[in-house]
Amino acid sequence: MILMNGRDVSKARNHRLKERISKDLEQGKRAPGLAIIVIGDDPASLSYVKGKGKACKLVGIRHDLHHLHESVEESEVVDLIQRLNQDDTVDGILLQLPIPRHLDDRKLINLISKDKDADGFHVINQGNLYQKMPCIKPATPKGIMSLLETFEIDVKGMDAVIIGRSNIVGFPIARLLMDQGATITVCHRQTKDLSMHTKRADLIIASAGKPELVKKDMVKEGAVVIDVGINRVDGKLVGDVDFEGVKDVASYLTPVPRGVGPMTINALLENTYELYLMHTR
Ligand code: NAD
Repeated sequence: MILMNGRDVSKARNHRLKERISKDLEQGKRAPGLAIIVIGDDPASLSYVKGKGKACKLVGIRHDLHHLHESVEESEVVDLIQRLNQDDTVDGILLQLPIPRHLDDRKLINLISKDKDADGFHVINQGNLYQKMPCIKPATPKGIMSLLETFEIDVKGMDAVIIGRSNIVGFPIARLLMDQGATITVCHRQTKDLSMHTKRADLIIASAGKPELVKKDMVKEGAVVIDVGINRVDGKLVGDVDFEGVKDVASYLTPVPRGVGPMTINALLENTYELYLMHTR
């Protein structure tokens, strides 16, 4: 089994991005800027935001953290997003999800200018993705595609089974893999017999958010297995794949942590840089 170490791959990609940004600065351009909005004190969200800020710093992206109170009024978030939309030094805006229930995440995401949508969640970017038009791609699916590319895994003709159909992972990764020539099955909570599908898959993308859902006996010998899940069990991070069992049958496997997570952050940085180029051309 070849371990797909996303931390190493993302480090190399971040390094290349840092060099490009250094060159831009040498030429007298301003630094790229990412505004990160986080609402409330959810420890997981704060830890993700911290990781994203640290990564920005490493590559030379200026980041501004806007930490709003749990009970913030919608109008205050709307004002902030509108202000950031108008700010010429801000290339990307990220609203860390989930947000408190009294706020409407779809509405707020779609208020972010589609040209500052660093996460690729805006309805216009998602529509363009499904129409195969140029767009900012959602970070996690983009990161998974970069990982597959780095390991020279050609998905053309593969039977790919995706577990999960969310707007941020399952559904868009289905689109991207289909574009590359894979045959797609998307499984979800209502799927009658999950293992019947996974057992015949050449590629499994596990993004259900269920600890160790995918067991060894559900995976075909030689399959490529990408574990997107991040679950906290007894204070430990575990994925959606039973790593210890599946490692004996998979040809390629991502670990959790240090798999898809760092690739998602790299994709966010690359998206921010893409927006920066759009704004400074
Ligand atoms: P979500 O809750 O929005 O969607 C989960 C999907 O899985 C749903 O479509 C649901 O129908 C399906 N599902 C749930 N249980 C299932 C089961 N037993 N069998 C088949 N399908 C099932 O979650 P999400 O936002 O798509 O995230 C999924 C997981 O990926 C979470 O653990 C999340 O923390 C993680 N995640 C990781 C990264 C990363 O960078 N590594 C990024 C985003 C999300």
